[in-house]
Amino acid sequence: MTQSLITSTQTPLLGLSLAELTEWVQQQGQPAYRGKQLYQWIYQKGVKSLADITVFSKQWRQEIADFSIGRSVIHHRSVAPDSTVKYLLQLSDGNIIETVGIPSYKRLTVCVSSQVGCPMACDFCATGKGGFTRNLEAYEIIDQVLTVQEDFERRVSHIVFMGMGEPLLNTKNVLAAVRSLNQDVGIGQRSITISTVGIRDRIRQLAQHKLQVTLAISLHASNQRLREHLVPSAKSYPLKDLIAECREYVKVTKRRISFEYILLAGFNDLPDHARELAKNLRGYQCHVNLIPYNPISEVDYQRPTEEEIKSFVNALEEQNIAVSVRYSRGLEADAACGQLRASRVTS
Ligand code: SAH
Repeated sequence: MTQSLITSTQTPLLGLSLAELTEWVQQQGQPAYRGKQLYQWIYQKGVKSLADITVFSKQWRQEIADFSIGRSVIHHRSVAPDSTVKYLLQLSDGNIIETVGIPSYKRLTVCVSSQVGCPMACDFCATGKGGFTRNLEAYEIIDQVLTVQEDFERRVSHIVFMGMGEPLLNTKNVLAAVRSLNQDVGIGQRSITISTVGIRDRIRQLAQHKLQVTLAISLHASNQRLREHLVPSAKSYPLKDLIAECREYVKVTKRRISFEYILLAGFNDLPDHARELAKNLRGYQCHVNLIPYNPISEVDYQRPTEEEIKSFVNALEEQNIAVSVRYSRGLEADAACGQLRASRVTS
């Protein structure tokens, strides 16, 4: 038998594959088929505690009672008029993270967090204002998807890593979560989007994994000066280096990149900015997603008018750039893009 996977009761079972769970039950002196049962109860039935797995004997359940599956507790839940649901989830160490469930006729999308807080401190983003606490473990990411799936009583179809945190500062755990969400929870890789502000060399490294996931780059600016103002990390990782690394990513993975661009009235939303942006992206297999700014209390940016948004779109289209406008859902529950923070904790 291979070396013990789970050495302590502190290591949760969520995130383990069928083979790993099978090995674990065997280490506990049980027959291999118990592994399959455990796998189904964790990923299909969404059981929260081993004590509730009624196909296991009472005695064995008592023996393994100290092991944890790794599920969070819903601390708070708020529903926006557009049916978007924002959850504050309490982790085993007491930290709170945010997760958003975004339903539509055909889809149920979960916006997952990858960190408690975020160290990137982007000027327009609420999460960044609260600072950084720690990376999430893979099981804490998978849990968010299962929690939304159970609460909606409906299969999750899409996942976006656009909640709190910078996924590429937690690549190992994010990739472990993607593996499990894909193979154990059954969500197609193409329905998973990893969104990043861009961390030097990490996009190149991600490309080596040859995943089918979609990469979204939070670009937000058409030149270095503007980007430095909005995204502090651009100072040490300039726009031109980021764009070059993205080009490599497209070449290696043959996957189209999605560029996110927040529209801030009078700041980065003029047709000249659109033309400058198009120049940077020329010859690229990409798509630009425009996100009209959602207000947060700390800064006084404004959302552009519909007319201004339209002029920006037109200017990009004239340059043959594929573009769409993403009107964030969940605004009324403070669950829209950039509004996530864990400060609304009320017990
Ligand atoms: N750190 C990653 C993941 C978070 S994604 C990243 O930056 O990509 C959060 C998304 O919401 C990003 O596209 C971000 O730019 C956008 N966003 C942040 N603050 C916003 C705000 N106030 N209004 C609209 N979109 C915002």
